Amino acid sequence: MDVRRVDLAKVLAVTPFPQRPRLDHEAGRLVGTRCGNCGAVSWPGRPVCQRCGAVDAREIALSDEGTLITYTTVWVRRPGLPTPYVLGQVDLADGVRIFAHGRGLTEEHRVPLPVRLVLLDDPDAVPPFVFEPRENR
Ligand SMILES: [Zn+2]
Repeated sequence: MDVRRVDLAKVLAVTPFPQRPRLDHEAGRLVGTRCGNCGAVSWPGRPVCQRCGAVDAREIALSDEGTLITYTTVWVRRPGLPTPYVLGQVDLADGVRIFAHGRGLTEEHRVPLPVRLVLLDDPDAVPPFVFEPRENR
C-alpha cells in the first residue's frame, strides 16, 4: 500500500478552506488551485493535492469554457429557485469536473456539449454562476 506523507505544519499554515476565494467576479472566473508538484487542478481550491499529497497549491483562475457531459431537469421545488431548473456536470478545459446549474438548453441539445460558465452579476445570487451552450453567445 502506498502511504503518502503530508507535512501537517505546512497544511496548517495554508489559508483554511472556507476563507479561500471560489469566484473572481472581476475576471468572471472560478478560482481553483493547481498543484505545484504534479499539476492537478481542483475546484474549490485545496490546501493539499488530492492526487500526490503535496502542500504546494497555487491559486489559479479556471477556464470559463468546458464540455457538458450530463444534465438533468429538476422539477422539485426549492426555496429561492424557480422550477424547473437544470443541473449538470461540466468538464472545464483545465481538467476539473464541476457540478453546476445551467440555462439556455433546449430539447435539441445533446451531450457532450460545448458550454461556457457565466458568473452572475449579483455576487449573492443563488446559484452564483451557470453554464450555457457556447453557441448562445
Ligand atoms: Zn499534486
